[in-house]
Amino acid sequence: MSEKAERVKTLILGSGPAGYTAAIYAARADLKPLMYTGMEPGGQLTTTTEVENFPGYPEGIDGPTMMVQLQQQAERFGTDVRIGMATAAEFSDEPGGIHRVIIDNDKVIEARTVIIATGASAKYLGLPSEQRLRGGGVSACAVCDGFFYKGQDVAIVGGGDTAAEEASYLANICNKVTMLIRKDHMRASKAMQHRVKNLPNIDIRFNTEVDEILGDQVVEGLRMVNNQTGVKEEIPITGFFVAIGHKPNTDIFKGQLDMDPTGYVITKGKSTRTNKPGVFASGDVQDKEYRQAVTAAGTGCMAALDAERYLATVETKEPVS
Ligand code: NDP
Repeated sequence: MSEKAERVKTLILGSGPAGYTAAIYAARADLKPLMYTGMEPGGQLTTTTEVENFPGYPEGIDGPTMMVQLQQQAERFGTDVRIGMATAAEFSDEPGGIHRVIIDNDKVIEARTVIIATGASAKYLGLPSEQRLRGGGVSACAVCDGFFYKGQDVAIVGGGDTAAEEASYLANICNKVTMLIRKDHMRASKAMQHRVKNLPNIDIRFNTEVDEILGDQVVEGLRMVNNQTGVKEEIPITGFFVAIGHKPNTDIFKGQLDMDPTGYVITKGKSTRTNKPGVFASGDVQDKEYRQAVTAAGTGCMAALDAERYLATVETKEPVS
């Protein structure tokens, strides 16, 4: 562990739309924010192709470009953006107290305010075969890995907007996409349902679940089961994509921050305040309802404003640069 702690007014954890928006506002309010990007700089949008629903981009924008622009905007106002991952946290219970966050199991940051914007990560089914074949044809990101299966047959599990979006992305690259939906209907928006239903090389299987992903070192096939009839069927595939939702990245805050049973941080009323004074949560880490880039950005803005107001009201016990 590094010996000397670095002390800041505002520490931002995470670099998705919530983190960068918090950074833009915090920097402009002269809070001199320090941001640690987390494992996936830019967050989930860096694994998206076209973002068509963020206001201000009439022609759409690709996710990675948007995140680079957000970073540039945050840096323009003086945000110190660093690559690194928070690995432990000790939050003070006292108003005006100093919070300690450990980065990469080594560096200690002491912060008067912390804005948590660590987002959410893809969920997996939990099958042993899925675990064994991760990196050998099992992926949770069609946009990242779809290219490897050009012209081949693949399958995707999930019936939400992510699954629908990824299935249509894969349909453009692959020969055939089998889409497994465990219910008799899709949860995806009508527009996305329409899109997948109109692509001739997507074979949608309702009431269908994964029984086993087949293959030793690499994916060679899929055994699926109809949960109404119990009938099993094997198909040859080389790529298997999981798109069944996300889990909030809050493990290191467990026991300190109030969370709901699925791990989403609970914030107070309409604010981004958590149960610890000076610790704020924004973006997907505290929102399982909307989970959009624009709503994440909105709560990032709120978190910076909440942090600024908090700093203005608490008694300053120790100087912060
Ligand atoms: P969702 O939680 O909306 O959907 C998850 C899907 O996976 C559901 O169909 C669910 O089935 C299924 N599922 C969950 N667990 C399992 C399992 N163990 N086995 C099989 N199927 C399973 O997650 P998404 O990631 O799709 O979307 C998250 C949010 O992001 C949503 O609000 C969505 O609207 C939004 N989004 C918006 C986009 C856009 O506007 N362009 C693009 C992508 C996402 P069931 O319905 O049976 O529970």
